[in-house]
Amino acid sequence: MNAASSPSPGAHLVPYGHGHARGLDAAELGVHGMEMDSLVRLGLPTVPGLTIPASHAGDLTDVTVARGAVDLLSALAGRRVGQADRPMLLRLVASAPVPAAGLPPMVAGLGLSPATAPALCAAIGRADTLYETWSATVRTIAEGALGVPADDLDDLVLDNPDPAKQVPALLDMCERLGNRPYPHDPAEQVALAATATLARWNSPRGRRARTAQSLPADTPIALHLQALLIGPWARSGHGSAASRDPDTGAFAPSGVFHRGVRRSEPPSGPGEPLAQLPGGADLLREALATLEHHFRTVAQVGFELKDGELALLSAAPLSHPSPQATVRLAVDLVQAGTLEKATAVRSVRPEQVQALLHPQLRLRGGEPLLVRGLAASPGAASGRISLSSLDALDRAADGVPTILVMTETTPADVPGLLAAAAVVTTGGGLASHAAVVARGAGRPAVCGASSLRVDPATSRVSVDGRELCEGDVISVDGRTGDVYVGAVEVRPAAPSAELDVLLGWADDHRRLGVRANADTAADAASAVRLGAEGIGLCRTEHQFLGARLPLVRRVILAEDAEDERKALAALADAQREDFRDLLRAVGDRPVTVRLLDAPMHEFLPHDGDYDDDRQAARAGQLREANPMLGVRGVRLALLHPGLYPAQVDALFSAWIDVAAEGVRPILEVMIPLVSIPRELALAAAAVSDVATEVARRSGVTVAYRIGTMVETPRAALLAGQLAVHAEFLSFGTNDLTQLTYGFSRDDVESRLLSDYLERGLLPASPFAELDPDGVGELLALATRRARAVRPDIKIGICGEHGGDPASIATLEPLGLDYVSCSPQRVPVARLAAAQAAQAAQAFTISPERTP
Ligand code: PEP
Ligand code: MG
Repeated sequence: MNAASSPSPGAHLVPYGHGHARGLDAAELGVHGMEMDSLVRLGLPTVPGLTIPASHAGDLTDVTVARGAVDLLSALAGRRVGQADRPMLLRLVASAPVPAAGLPPMVAGLGLSPATAPALCAAIGRADTLYETWSATVRTIAEGALGVPADDLDDLVLDNPDPAKQVPALLDMCERLGNRPYPHDPAEQVALAATATLARWNSPRGRRARTAQSLPADTPIALHLQALLIGPWARSGHGSAASRDPDTGAFAPSGVFHRGVRRSEPPSGPGEPLAQLPGGADLLREALATLEHHFRTVAQVGFELKDGELALLSAAPLSHPSPQATVRLAVDLVQAGTLEKATAVRSVRPEQVQALLHPQLRLRGGEPLLVRGLAASPGAASGRISLSSLDALDRAADGVPTILVMTETTPADVPGLLAAAAVVTTGGGLASHAAVVARGAGRPAVCGASSLRVDPATSRVSVDGRELCEGDVISVDGRTGDVYVGAVEVRPAAPSAELDVLLGWADDHRRLGVRANADTAADAASAVRLGAEGIGLCRTEHQFLGARLPLVRRVILAEDAEDERKALAALADAQREDFRDLLRAVGDRPVTVRLLDAPMHEFLPHDGDYDDDRQAARAGQLREANPMLGVRGVRLALLHPGLYPAQVDALFSAWIDVAAEGVRPILEVMIPLVSIPRELALAAAAVSDVATEVARRSGVTVAYRIGTMVETPRAALLAGQLAVHAEFLSFGTNDLTQLTYGFSRDDVESRLLSDYLERGLLPASPFAELDPDGVGELLALATRRARAVRPDIKIGICGEHGGDPASIATLEPLGLDYVSCSPQRVPVARLAAAQAAQAAQAFTISPERTP
């Protein structure tokens, strides 16, 4: 460019902090220019620098403009390149209007020359770090602006590993092979660095990288020239820090610091902890505190340190703050008056709460994956493979953590499942037995890991030719569905006092009640601790697992009335004791007790565990081809008319026992799997008869509400007729999803859904995320029809969707009264319900805001 057409120096040079005043935005200043502009306006110490806006970035390739930039920067920094007592170097950085991958690397050692190097080395007190930077700078300019072939440069660097030898060799190569020698004048170096940077950004490779990120190929970049202040090695360097400790979430700058001059490549070595920062970390703490209040999220900075003096080089919200940090920061900002409580509630994602409540694998990358299945119950564990419940029980008794690996589990496996640290099944889905029990008990689970083969006969499991034996160690991530070979460190759950505070605020913002699905006193107690307002589902069949299984079996297999009467009496005795414990844990809260819903296949004895031939023959008669559609729920109760009365008698008697101790739970008796209103009427009448009989016998009238589950499409359609007999309805969306789609809840996820998800036939598993179009529509219709008949009818949901944030968002507008979910998901549901209510409120007021 000749002098006549040269751009005027200085016209488009924007010192950091002047962009806003000149009306420039990210399109001109780039992401970095915007960051530096706001840092200056916040009054934070920054590296002296200026921006050449995107529309004029090319001007910097002109030496006159580059000289103007160097002069302006020298004035801003109060020092000049080559000044012996106040040494300085220059650095050229590029940034795009939006965060983009593939930006040209910075060129850091501008101003270095044989004339300036000795003073710089003397100021630093050593030469190695300076020569590394110098060598990288010459190499970048040689290739990008002087036309030296990259292969020759690579060979030279390989032949001369010592940077101090590389530099003279590189300068010599530029002279021999370049279109001109490498200049010593800083302004000329800056102009060439700009040429190299822009050439790289505009290269075919750079354009392809932008297209791959869905950015326009001709996206411009702004250039930034910064002053690199040089100080003694012991008291100078550079580093990066985030405002919060990722493990505890406490405000405590965490990061690393490197001595020496920043290079374009990542620093070698791990760096030093900030505690060793020369001059202390106080300035950094102050800057990060200011930035947290500015960003309202966890902040991260890049910084330079010269002679103990701090200057910021970048500042941005941390892209993936830990859940601990997010929660603690939200509470801190509210307490400091920076954030409204409602905003704090919105600022934490429900999955982050979930992550805090469960142990997590500390993955470092490279852990060998054994198999991937469905993320069926969150949490993580490492342990030895057990291929049977018995083995799990034995190992657990010896204090050995185990992972129960089976094709599927049944009620007989529950003791082993509870003794294990986690469970993996090759079959089954998110609503299968193993998944439901594991979630209820807070055990991590991976289900439907269909490529895993389990062979109990040889005590081996295998996948794609890889074989492990019973006793080998694996690690399970129930949040992702991944199972790894070998031990992976487990980070314990980290609920905190701040989480309780945040959830308390969420409670103030939600409309939906949150209850828990809990079958035992221990589950109920932990649900209450986690904030459940009551129990929305006690599956009474879960009280008959393991050693108690024969009690239900005897009723189902009874061959005559006397046999059945005795079996029912034994069952009632056991239940009265369990109910007493449960009711004590529930306290004065509501508790919905679902009468027995025992799918035959889960409760009948199997080959190998028959008591005798007679039992085997009877079990054979009762076996069903389609047990989930067979004699279960209220249907079994109508075939065994003594069954529900025995359970209700035990429940009411237990209530009288605990009432005498001063505990008065609000009883709700729930009838499962109804599809014909008269089924409900008959069951309700039987419950009422027991209430009368108990009152006659004890002199105490036990108050209770009668209600039913809505688990079949017919029940949903006939909700109005059910409401005649029911004081409450609870949507059993596990079965309702199964029956609406005709998808087997035990089979379809491992066999079909991954394919359907890949093809886009479904957006998510309908067993995990409520289907708003079909199942959700049935819920809406049933709610309307039931309320038309009984306006004050209580309506809730107790399928697994009750703890899923996306499903809760779908449920909120339907106007249900509560959701009920496994105890560990209660905090997640509390937050999700608050956010759903906030979203609904925003939705209803936004039309008025629109002009
Ligand atoms: C349901 O079907 O949603 C339900 C809660 O009952 P279960 O999972 O016990 O069948
Ligand atoms: Mg059900």
